[in-house]
Amino acid sequence: MAVIQARNPRTGKQDYEFVAADAGTVSHAVANARTAQRDWYRKGLDHRVQALTSWAKALEARADAITAALADDTGRTRISREELGAVIHFIHGYSDAAPEVLAQPFRKFSNNSDVVFKTTLIPYPVVGVISPWNFPLVLSFIDAIPALLAGAAVVIKPSEVTPRFVVPLQESINDVPELKGVITLLQGAAETGQALLSTVDAIVFTGSVATGRKIAVAAAERFIPAFLELGGKDPAVVLAGSDIERAATSILRSALYNTGQVCYAIERVYVDDSIHDAFVQELARQAQTLRRSLSAGDGGHYGPFIHAPQGDIVRAQLQDAVAKGARVVTGGTVETVDGAVWLDPTIVVDVNHSMDLMTQETFGPVVPVMRFTSEDEAAHLANDTIYGLSGAVFGPDTHTAGDFATRMEAGGVSINDTELQRGMMFDGEKTAFKFSGMGGSRYGSTSILRYVRKRALIANEGGIKPLDELSESV
Ligand code: NAD
Repeated sequence: MAVIQARNPRTGKQDYEFVAADAGTVSHAVANARTAQRDWYRKGLDHRVQALTSWAKALEARADAITAALADDTGRTRISREELGAVIHFIHGYSDAAPEVLAQPFRKFSNNSDVVFKTTLIPYPVVGVISPWNFPLVLSFIDAIPALLAGAAVVIKPSEVTPRFVVPLQESINDVPELKGVITLLQGAAETGQALLSTVDAIVFTGSVATGRKIAVAAAERFIPAFLELGGKDPAVVLAGSDIERAATSILRSALYNTGQVCYAIERVYVDDSIHDAFVQELARQAQTLRRSLSAGDGGHYGPFIHAPQGDIVRAQLQDAVAKGARVVTGGTVETVDGAVWLDPTIVVDVNHSMDLMTQETFGPVVPVMRFTSEDEAAHLANDTIYGLSGAVFGPDTHTAGDFATRMEAGGVSINDTELQRGMMFDGEKTAFKFSGMGGSRYGSTSILRYVRKRALIANEGGIKPLDELSESV
């Protein structure tokens, strides 16, 4: 059995280890989930809502242990508390939405009023969830909760980089007997994920494009649906006449949240030539007011990298950019201090699309800024990417910025702010464009419907067609 060590992002020490679930363990867990799912679905939506509501209470009761473990996993405390709050919010929000989304009324055929039909929603029995390390808890459950409400059981494999939260979380699940076998967490790395893919009935994956492609291929081999939530390289476009201070604050906040380790972080900025220099100056001024968070609750604004290899990726991108003529305005040095890997807010100018920094996902606190001289050029640059997760446009007013937003090839565009899609959760839908994902909207209450198949039950309440219908004669 493989033992996996986990590094603490604040100390650099490998201070935690766990045994990875092997193929036999995965297969056994999925078989148990398949059995538990029958009752979970048969007992109906009210039962599922009640069980999940009890779980929300158990999560609250065990909040300290869960958030402490998550803080050890990720090196940040406030966001760990936000993650737990978000999962509780998902439970209540999706539970409220589920009755309407899952309603199955009888209808009549439009061309034959004798025929009545009902579309019944049949969940995939076991949905596998594979999640990344940047928001270990939220991304393990953002899709699992709608799947559970749909009537599926879930088997979740969180990232091996951030495993500590799994034990206290499992204890909260154990507090609710109705969830036995319905929610299963399995620890492991790629091999455990592959084993999961070979047995579940549908898969939701959040992670990199490279792994997402492997998941999609493996799922296609088995003809199971794969819902992929992948990487991004979100652009922000700042048009002439924008409020420079507002744009700088919003872009910096997005680029630095979770030390930039966010799929929809703003990772490249295009600014109208007329305000480029003033914008960069303001961005640098604001960046210099931010400081490292060296311990929980110290008021600092950003932590170390969660996953040390990410620091190497960001360093290589910065070196590539500088070698090709970019200039670092603030920050720029990835350094290890007492085992933790840090990068201070880094603003880079004189960048172009020959640089990895402008085309590859960075996942660090870096804001590269490029000037443009026409809106056509800005639209071309914003869309010159394999990604299409989301983006932002700043302009003198909603109308002007909104017009430009319609030219952006992305699943969500915030206008005169960034990351507004985060608050959209149950209210609206968005899909990822291009390589940023596939498989319907994770946002909006209809995401519950990603986890069902549709079976039509059709009754003829009138006479049946005679055998003469078979006759060739007219
Ligand atoms: P990753 O692709 O390396 O790993 C993600 C998960 O896949 C992990 O649990 C890992 O163990 C598992 N895995 C790796 N290889 C596998 C295989 N061959 N078969 C099955 N499972 C396998 O991603 P990461 O580095 O953990 O996370 C960062 C990435 O996630 C970034 O690209 C980021 O943009 C993306 N992300 C996307 C979203 C979104 O909502 N679109 C949200 C957060 C993160």
